[in-house]
Amino acid sequence: MLIDPCLYSYNIDLLTTGSKIAGQYMVKRKVIYDGKAKIIYEGPEPGTVIQYFKDDATAFNAEKHDIIAGKGVLNNRISAHLMKQLEGIGIPTHFIRSLNMREQLVREVSIIPVEVVIRNIAAGSLCKKLGLTEGTVLPQPIIEFYYKNDDLGDPMVNEQHVVTFGWADPYELDEIVHMTYRINDYLNGLFSGIGLRLVDFKLEFGRLFGEYGEVYLMLADEISPDNCRLWDAETNEKMDKDRFRQDLGGLVDAYQNVAERLGLVPKGGIIQGGDINEQLAAGLSEIENELAKERRLREVNKRKPNTTSPRKI
Ligand code: C5P
Repeated sequence: MLIDPCLYSYNIDLLTTGSKIAGQYMVKRKVIYDGKAKIIYEGPEPGTVIQYFKDDATAFNAEKHDIIAGKGVLNNRISAHLMKQLEGIGIPTHFIRSLNMREQLVREVSIIPVEVVIRNIAAGSLCKKLGLTEGTVLPQPIIEFYYKNDDLGDPMVNEQHVVTFGWADPYELDEIVHMTYRINDYLNGLFSGIGLRLVDFKLEFGRLFGEYGEVYLMLADEISPDNCRLWDAETNEKMDKDRFRQDLGGLVDAYQNVAERLGLVPKGGIIQGGDINEQLAAGLSEIENELAKERRLREVNKRKPNTTSPRKI
């Protein structure tokens, strides 16, 4: 089912204006930015925005484009999960919470215009530039920077460009490098535990400005098979966007497999393909959450009451 992402259904009780379509009120939301694979909408509160994951796949600076049904749903799930895990090890991220199958609430940050790529195994542009054989394990991870500029084709730059042109100050750059190594360490372990090799990936960082002018640097954008290279540990089968870039086919199956290994969707589950009722499925995950909450409450109530006599003071 194709849903116009600009139209958002609200509970009738919460809304008094808008046009009524099929029993629900639909309103136009304000688009802040419409990107290649995501749309950013105004959030419900100041300082927040909604990140919507599209099914669009692009490569080679958008020269190649297709719509791959189900991709956005899977990327939303996978990225939300990885961001939560990274928060758990102390990496600040823009992620607040998942809203539904395609959307997450995130902090509104000002994006640093530098893409940070970290590589563990030679692939992609590194092989092309240096004539390396794909799959060569690098003696140590390599960090690269690319200036985010579509007109220039995102040229590769170095630390001096980043600082000289004021895209980040030296302290921010230090923090970005430090966080990137930590994220790489953690994700390497996480993916190897589910039989995947983390070949390389791209990160973006943003600044959040505090009340008193203080600046918080945090991980932004997404982490999904759209911006990571993930290979099956046994077969080296590609489980990422290279399936689209190299016309290998089976992209949604590969992303679904990554989500299954991460324990995010049941095997052959509801997110297969585009022919799903996403609103119904979104409702289902809310029901699952409610059930989980109830189960936890029941667990608490089952515990033996504390029968020890009160301590004398
Ligand atoms: O193409 P290249 O080998 O430089 O890509 C390195 C990594 O960065 C890959 O995982 C790729 O998916 C990711 N990347 C990205 N967005 C870009 C460029 C690269 O997510 N604009």
